Amino acid sequence: MRFSKLFAPTLRESPADAEVVSHKLMLRAGMIRKVAAGIYTLLPLGVNVLKSVENIVREEMMLAGAQEVTMPMVVPSELWKESGRWDEYGKELLRLNDRHGRDFCLGPTHEEVVTNLVAGEVRSYKNLPMNLFQIQTKFRDEIRPRFGLMRGREFVMKDAYSFHVTEECAEKEYLNMKAAYSRIFERCGLDFRAVEADTGNIGGNFSHEFMVLADTGEDAIVSCEKCDYAANVERAEIGLPAGEGASSSEAASSLPLPEKVSTPGKKSIDEVSEFLKVKPETLIKSLVYNTDKGPVMALVRGDLEINNIKVKRAASASWAELASEDIVSEITGAPSGYVGPVGLKGKLIADFSVRSMRGAVTGANEEGAHLRNVEPGRDFSAEYTDLRVAGSGDKCPRCDEGSFKLFRGIEVGHIFMLGTKYSESMGAKFLDENGKEKPMIMGCYGIGIGRTAAAAIEQNHDEAGIRWPVPIAPYQVCIAAVTMKDHDSLELAESLYFGLMDKGIPTLMDDRNERAGVKFKDLDLIGIPVRITVSTNTMKEESVEIKERGGETRLVGYKDTVAEIIRILKIPPSG
Ligand code: ATP
Ligand code: MG
Repeated sequence: MRFSKLFAPTLRESPADAEVVSHKLMLRAGMIRKVAAGIYTLLPLGVNVLKSVENIVREEMMLAGAQEVTMPMVVPSELWKESGRWDEYGKELLRLNDRHGRDFCLGPTHEEVVTNLVAGEVRSYKNLPMNLFQIQTKFRDEIRPRFGLMRGREFVMKDAYSFHVTEECAEKEYLNMKAAYSRIFERCGLDFRAVEADTGNIGGNFSHEFMVLADTGEDAIVSCEKCDYAANVERAEIGLPAGEGASSSEAASSLPLPEKVSTPGKKSIDEVSEFLKVKPETLIKSLVYNTDKGPVMALVRGDLEINNIKVKRAASASWAELASEDIVSEITGAPSGYVGPVGLKGKLIADFSVRSMRGAVTGANEEGAHLRNVEPGRDFSAEYTDLRVAGSGDKCPRCDEGSFKLFRGIEVGHIFMLGTKYSESMGAKFLDENGKEKPMIMGCYGIGIGRTAAAAIEQNHDEAGIRWPVPIAPYQVCIAAVTMKDHDSLELAESLYFGLMDKGIPTLMDDRNERAGVKFKDLDLIGIPVRITVSTNTMKEESVEIKERGGETRLVGYKDTVAEIIRILKIPPSG
């Protein structure tokens, strides 16, 4: 491609509404332009990058034995009613009517369409297993679309769905996909981890997220320093530190009884601990949750945080959210900030960290008052479980030796063991060897194509711009002729351009009538991995300058240039 013909409107300054680096740089490099919140046009450089990611994904999916299909983006409501998600999915599902007033939605994910397809076509165990994938536009009416392609409303996803006769076969495919995903993100040149994750509103039995490590990531993940356990903190279990699980009730009877103290206007952990001159770890944090199984109070030691997803699980509920003030006062008789477990009639669950607390401070279930000298076991009894958000230094639940390190990550892929959630509700059944009808066992597997490209920038950039990993760069090599007026250097630049194209190397020829400084700035911003500079100076030595993005400049003889580029790009010899 010749830069003079390329539609890549680069910007010197970052647009004001871009918060994260990848969003800023995609705009500045002329890769994307916003059409509406979370909705973008991809310009040629953006298309090149997303196509490269797509091609890697497609190749690896095919190698792993999946077959490509294309499902519609507009989906009739009947399919979503059959699975039950028409009512469950909430506002992220964009619903629309056709001219006859029939309900449709824009597919945010395609379990319904694919399950309906397979239910209609596959009858026998002989036609299973099967894994179908597509690379297609999704729509989710995200509450806060932001960060450019990272969290769009309209975005491209690779989604795959597998169907099986047995659990074992489904689990084997899950591992097959997990391995394919690792190859995909390795080939994209990314530093990533596969972590255990919550199944969210896709549902299912267990799942892994693929996280690209980056400080700007929206997700927090913990990984054990000793073994290979890694999990999203939303999900991470915690190993019990010695003594934490033990009850304090044996010795408690000799301790002073709870005493009410006046704490007007002091509601938060910090306010109460400062006012009473005690450490936050002496306080019991008490939060009332509302769930589909009714309200529940959850407790954790004052210096720790409660994990909503663990509350949901502990309450055997399908959703759990902090209760409104009305519910809080109905259950406790006090406003939030003054509530606690002593004398509570309702359901009480507590984190293990609470069980061994001594002489704790809690809300008194009375406005403006707290209780001192509270002893778990003596003054209240709760169901003890793991409720808190995992963090750095917590003990690993698997090896029981290592402790957690905390990272931030960007979720680029997510795989789920679905079980029979969709095949049961949508009638995807097969006849087994004995002619008996059974529901198919399913798995589903997603990758965000645009988010992967954005995550690559978060992980690979500097002050000058993007530093694309070679396999997903919009062009792998660029050639800049310093003076466009010099016939010999132009001729050399042209011959190198054709030489590289001949080898199938995507090359950008900067033939613009601009100063060298302007060219270098744009080429660095766009992030082309290798730059060749042709100038009258180096031509005296029959050489060109080669510079890897972010590296040093060096001279290479004309004749060796193409071979040297092939070496740098690590292109395997053909044949
Ligand atoms: P998140 O938790 O970030 O909202 P999710 O868990 O809802 O994502 P999945 O349903 O697992 O997402 O979708 C599969 C993949 O699609 C994700 O791993 C991510 O790469 C991509 N993806 C999901 N939502 C978006 C979005 N709004 N914009 C861009 N990519 C997305
Ligand atoms: Mg997910």
